Amino acid sequence: MGHVYDDQNIFAKILRGEIPNATVLETEHALAFRDIHPQAPTHVLVIPKGPYVCFDHFAQEASDAEIVDYVRAVGEVCRMEGVAEDGWRLIANAGMNGVQEVPHLHVHVLAGRNLGRMLS
Ligand code: C5P
Repeated sequence: MGHVYDDQNIFAKILRGEIPNATVLETEHALAFRDIHPQAPTHVLVIPKGPYVCFDHFAQEASDAEIVDYVRAVGEVCRMEGVAEDGWRLIANAGMNGVQEVPHLHVHVLAGRNLGRMLS
């Protein structure tokens, strides 16, 4: 399946500086910022700077350098937010069934409360 990137999506606008964001971390290939509707005391979104729609798109087309930088940025955010002791959750929604609202890859880093069972 081909992935068509919409450069008018809201995270593309954030990356271009057209919309403000509460940045937590910026690296060469990634940006982490606070979700505007936090679902937990820590709710940070980590996005690659490149134009990737979802995880699979990123895995197929990003360079090794982008992938390494992105994964390390997610880990760094967890450390910065101090989530290690009590635990955390990563979520990456994709497509219609995953109920992905913004078509630019993002993982949600959630922590700071008991998040309950995700699958039942
Ligand atoms: O995974 P999904 O695409 O559903 O999540 C998109 C997330 O982006 C939501 O949690 C929403 O609150 C967040 N968002 C944001 N800043 C915006 C627009 C959406 O943090 N300007």
